[in-house]
Amino acid sequence: MKAITVEPKKIGTARYEDFPEPDVNEGSVLVEAVAVGVCGTDVEIVEGKYGWAPPGKERLVLGHESLGRVIDPGSRSSFKKGDLVVGIVRRPDPVPCANCAVGEWDMCRNGQYTERGIKEIQGFMSERWRIEPEYAIKVDSTLGVLGVLLEPTTVVTKAWAHVVSVGVRAFWEPRNVLVTGAGPIGLLAALIGKQRGLDVHVLDRATTGAKPEIVRSLGATYHSCSVSQIGFEPDVIIECTGVGSVITESIQSISSGGIVCLTGVGHGGETNKTPAAEVAAAAVLKNTVIIGSVNANKRHWYRAGDVLARADRKWLSRLITRREKPENFKQALERRPDDIKVIIQFSEA
Ligand SMILES: [Zn+2]
Repeated sequence: MKAITVEPKKIGTARYEDFPEPDVNEGSVLVEAVAVGVCGTDVEIVEGKYGWAPPGKERLVLGHESLGRVIDPGSRSSFKKGDLVVGIVRRPDPVPCANCAVGEWDMCRNGQYTERGIKEIQGFMSERWRIEPEYAIKVDSTLGVLGVLLEPTTVVTKAWAHVVSVGVRAFWEPRNVLVTGAGPIGLLAALIGKQRGLDVHVLDRATTGAKPEIVRSLGATYHSCSVSQIGFEPDVIIECTGVGSVITESIQSISSGGIVCLTGVGHGGETNKTPAAEVAAAAVLKNTVIIGSVNANKRHWYRAGDVLARADRKWLSRLITRREKPENFKQALERRPDDIKVIIQFSEA
């Protein structure tokens, strides 16, 4: 079969090549790839900045935002031939830490977890892949190729779950949310905000292209100003840009008792000139909370499936702005101004 592979930490090694069929040890369910979403992590791996091949192997199969069709459910799963499934990305660490031991691998304490297509397990950018039934999530068949949005949806489903966990520490009646960044993560965070019945605001630097209209068609308000200029103090901010100045302004603009959830991972940028003690004093006097959130566990995967199943299909389809063939994976990894989610399509859904 064919797969998109890379030699991690070595730039210029990515290629679409012949690759052995998936090993039965990788899981009893055999799946035919439908599509794989591309994200910044894939770009970093191909640029030689990140990633680990499985132990004893030189090459890593890329891809962690999967969607496939079951072609052989195996003997110990309840899946049926033809089911659309998505593979969970992370596996618990082998120690395991207390969190991995109870299935909260998203909260792994020792960093020894593994991840498909990223860290020591082959990813999903191959014509066929295998998965353990307990790590495969069936998606609503009417979603079709839109099921490829499940993995990014799990990330924001977890972020929202943690925001709610923090919120209920006190009497909590949030009315609005500001999402910073209108990429796939931000737009899916906004979708969940709508499903929660909130007044949703999305901020992004883009003033043209598809983003403003996609936000408006969700029934949300689009802003292209800075966070401090939006004209109100949000009850919740889901920060999806990782940009230093946006993070700083988010912390300064949050309402009393509000929650800032950071989901973006950035590098460098401007130094925060606000002294730490003043940031802390504002947090103390306003009871604000700043939380970081990454990855997702099986509860979030299950709920994310529900989020997508309830969403308007037409709206979801607008998030997928480009589809590339596997042999054109290099184009798929390019970032173009109008891109929201780019997918590599292996077969029809
Ligand atoms: Zn762990």
